[in-house]
Amino acid sequence: MGSISEDDWTTGKCFQTGSSSTIGASASLAVPPSRAPRPPKPFANPQKTGADGSTALQTKVVQPRAAKPLYDPTHPDALVMPRPPSSHQWQNNQRNDSIVDVVVDPHLVSKLRPHQQKGVIFLYECIMGLRQYEGCGAILADEMGLGKTLQCITLVWTLFKQGPYGGKPIIKRVLIVTPGSLVKNWCREFRKWLGSERISVFPVSSDKKVEEFKKSPLFPVMVISYEMMVRYADDIRGITFDLVVCDEGHRLKNSTIKTASLLSSLAVRRRILLTGTPIQNDLQEFYSIVEFCNPGVLGTSGSFHRVYEEPILRSNQPSATKEEKTLGAARATELSRLTSLFVLRRTQEINNKYLPPKVETVVFCKPSALQLRLYQHLLRSPLIRSCLSRGYASSASAGSPHLVCIGALKKLCNDPSLLYQASRKADEEGKRRGGESWLLDHDDEEESLYKGLLPIYPPEYTEGRPLLAHCGKLCVLSEMLRAMHADPTRRERLVLVSNYTQTLDILQALCSIEGYQFCRLDGSTPTAKRQSIVEHFNSSYAKETIFLLSSKAGGVGLNLIGASRLLLYDIDWNPANDLQAMARVWRDGQKKTVYIYRLITAGTIEEKIYQRQISKQSLSGAVVDAKGQSGSVKFSLEDLRDLFTLHEGSSCITHDMLSCDCTDTNGPSSNVKAPGDVQKGPQRPCQLGKLKPTVLKKNLSMGDLNEWQHYLAPLPEDFQDEYLLEAKDGITFVFQNETNMVPVP
Ligand SMILES: [Zn+2]
Repeated sequence: MGSISEDDWTTGKCFQTGSSSTIGASASLAVPPSRAPRPPKPFANPQKTGADGSTALQTKVVQPRAAKPLYDPTHPDALVMPRPPSSHQWQNNQRNDSIVDVVVDPHLVSKLRPHQQKGVIFLYECIMGLRQYEGCGAILADEMGLGKTLQCITLVWTLFKQGPYGGKPIIKRVLIVTPGSLVKNWCREFRKWLGSERISVFPVSSDKKVEEFKKSPLFPVMVISYEMMVRYADDIRGITFDLVVCDEGHRLKNSTIKTASLLSSLAVRRRILLTGTPIQNDLQEFYSIVEFCNPGVLGTSGSFHRVYEEPILRSNQPSATKEEKTLGAARATELSRLTSLFVLRRTQEINNKYLPPKVETVVFCKPSALQLRLYQHLLRSPLIRSCLSRGYASSASAGSPHLVCIGALKKLCNDPSLLYQASRKADEEGKRRGGESWLLDHDDEEESLYKGLLPIYPPEYTEGRPLLAHCGKLCVLSEMLRAMHADPTRRERLVLVSNYTQTLDILQALCSIEGYQFCRLDGSTPTAKRQSIVEHFNSSYAKETIFLLSSKAGGVGLNLIGASRLLLYDIDWNPANDLQAMARVWRDGQKKTVYIYRLITAGTIEEKIYQRQISKQSLSGAVVDAKGQSGSVKFSLEDLRDLFTLHEGSSCITHDMLSCDCTDTNGPSSNVKAPGDVQKGPQRPCQLGKLKPTVLKKNLSMGDLNEWQHYLAPLPEDFQDEYLLEAKDGITFVFQNETNMVPVP
């Protein structure tokens, strides 16, 4: 007694108050040891007691209801919640109500996928206090697209109607707090899964005040934005809620202390926090999120810092001793064990097997003659040369000329017209100055980059109107769009993604010239209008065939399953942005095979960025998620030399890097490979592994690319994608891969 075992100290278990390694010592959850094996109360058969009418108990014990489960728990498809253990009954069923199975409404069960069913059970156990920790809170951190909302709605609906003790419902009123842009979405989701008759949802808005909700008995669910929540704090404190759900709950860690402390101060023990982002990267933030859901479960902030944060962080330092490493690892393991009791996170991979096939194609496009001439001129510019001689490896501040140069080259790849205005300006400036003193003034650095470009443009060149012949990628895109629109009965729809608004303008101009109908969503689209644009495009009657999307304006939960094709026109340093864009179409609800195209100008900086993307992706997805902003990209002088080299005439330097010899054999036709042709065709090294079902990884790596199909131009006549086939004159190389569905177990 009184001494601490070495193991308990190493893991930190001895510091825990809420949860203990030895069940039974925990104060409030487990059964007191002396009474442990005893059943909670003498069993009282409701029928007997009622019929008999003469037991002494009758006056003291409220007559238990002869409650029955709401739905048949023996049905083969029934989703039945776990029964509370005797310890729970001892504490929570003092009226000795009969134990009734809680069975999820079959109407909803039919819509739940296996992982969602597990999620509902998990949430139920947490909220009911059935798990071995102190508290009634849960964190559901599933990645976007796994149906966090549906799992939550299912739980809410179940608890509204049922409970394990006498069948009495567990909750009467629920508060859902969410970012302003998602308030309507929550109402829609309730309607979608439960219809409008089953449950009434009250969204707080400028017209619908909290006061109304308070007075009306009609609404069991209130949905409110974080902003409104602060505004109506006093009203909300006056309402008794039985469950609070915080959507996008990671915001709590950044949001004003006011919102977080207001939410914490609500007298609601049952708390669910939903988030799609990894939350364990920063232990202090993680602590505050956990503290909101299950106050006290990790001890005080100070003891958490001492017991977990500090040893874990110290063990990650290069200078850590062996003992520090051992201790840090043990504490990390224990922290993870403890929090896994109430944190559930699943990734997209779980969902992939239910989605239709996805065909990904990386299309290398031939740069135009104009692009090549401009590109070479840029590479010879004094600014790029000075970057290469001086090096800007770590100059994140104080002007970053290398970023200016990279930006210019990227624009040139997207369309030469994006540099036209700057070139004209530089030309006028040059004339004004008589061609002198270009590099004397620091501010002129960028302008100097465009000096001498104007004469390279053909005389007929005008700004803002795409001239197809002068841009490799645009040419390919234009041919693809033409082929796509050739047969209007096919109703093909495409999402066109770019990182730049100016590039979207050019793509939009192309659509206008060709008469294709389009929708557009970028950073300037008001939040209030976004949802209606998206819904319109997704509806079956929409005439628009193209959705122009700025990759950075996506936001949470943007769903574009009305299209089954998506084209990434340019490339981002951060693969997470591209993955997010792809998830717009390849997601829950998509019925058709999805085609993802990525256009890359062969031999240029775009290829270099792509290589960086796929070679750096071996980092954990979580790290990229949190820190992969383009601002943090670092370059060595060697990096810059590589970025500022043009490989003219190369069909695909990325393929050259793979050391794959598929293109060395008997001329181009031997690279042709129809799907399913693997046994018949000649075996080539790059095709090895093609027969194996693709292991679904989150991020593509160089090694994966080796296992994709490789096609050197010209594309074979039986190439799988007819739209690309129409554009083959502008294509130098293609990587292609199909992710097939794994049979559902
Ligand atoms: Zn190859």
